[in-house]
Amino acid sequence: MNFYVIKKLVATILHKTKLIKLAASVRTKGLKKPRIIVLCYHRIVEQGGLISPQCISPKCFEEQVCYFKNHFSVINMTDLERYMSGDFVLLHDAVLFTFDDGYEDNYTHAMPILEKYGLKGCFFVASDPVLKGRPYWVDELSTVLQALHKHKHDFNMSFDGLSLLQRFIDSPECDKGILAKQVFYYVNELPLVQRNEWIHKIRLVVPELPKTPALMNLAQLKNLMELGHCIGAHTVSHPKLSLLNREQVEHELIEGILSLRQQDIMIDYFAYPFGKIEDLPKERTYFFSLLKKYQIKLAVTTEDAAVDLTGSPYLVHRKVMSAQSLAQIALKLEMLKWQFNLKNA
Ligand SMILES: [Zn+2]
Repeated sequence: MNFYVIKKLVATILHKTKLIKLAASVRTKGLKKPRIIVLCYHRIVEQGGLISPQCISPKCFEEQVCYFKNHFSVINMTDLERYMSGDFVLLHDAVLFTFDDGYEDNYTHAMPILEKYGLKGCFFVASDPVLKGRPYWVDELSTVLQALHKHKHDFNMSFDGLSLLQRFIDSPECDKGILAKQVFYYVNELPLVQRNEWIHKIRLVVPELPKTPALMNLAQLKNLMELGHCIGAHTVSHPKLSLLNREQVEHELIEGILSLRQQDIMIDYFAYPFGKIEDLPKERTYFFSLLKKYQIKLAVTTEDAAVDLTGSPYLVHRKVMSAQSLAQIALKLEMLKWQFNLKNA
């Protein structure tokens, strides 16, 4: 029995025996510590590419939505804003739905399911992909790798990272996913210009490039707004902000906000691309001052934790969601809430 199966089994037992529920009850009723978890989804689709962000099938997503609706209060960004400013009394555990990157499946699959259950979400989009149709570089890299793995290629040149790429091409089918991720990690660490050059270089050897996944268009974003969902900024081109200089960071943030506002999209919130603490801009205080200057009320990360009422409104934690079983999700969320209790005891 492997580790993954054991973890799933333990979660199922704790769930079935209602031990997770008991822990939640001790925390919320005994200790009076209800918590908010901001959920972070990416694609709601059956299957994505080799290095697509987390994909959850529409069926699995609906099961999760149904579970959250039945077991938690579901709040929106305005509630969260009020909570962070001490103006919202939290009586029960709550969740909030957010979606990163603006894939079209968010509109065609996620939104109808949220609407079916009377729930609203916040959708964070990078401005160039949705307004100018420039694909995310991650998707570009993913489709190039997909095309490369179908044919044998001779690069006839030498460049940094070639041996890793060659290893991906030569690897057996079962290892492609892992090696594609390694290529992604390598490219993700390159400075902006080198990263684009690197992708461009390997793109040249692919005769026909498959299409990158569709993103939402402006009309769809506006329709989401009309339905009461909210749209947030997610930079211009989805870079790792920690690798950029001050000027580039300013451009990515300001242009990412203003170009959406110019299209009459209301922008009050921001999500950091990749979103781990090490991915955030190096000049943190300066960045926060820019967020404030451009009237951003909350900024969200992807640090797995419950929302910290005492923390900065520009460092709101989120839990990245995957297609785990409901028992595993229930256990993980409860653990995050206890970690928070113990840390703040
Ligand atoms: Zn993103």
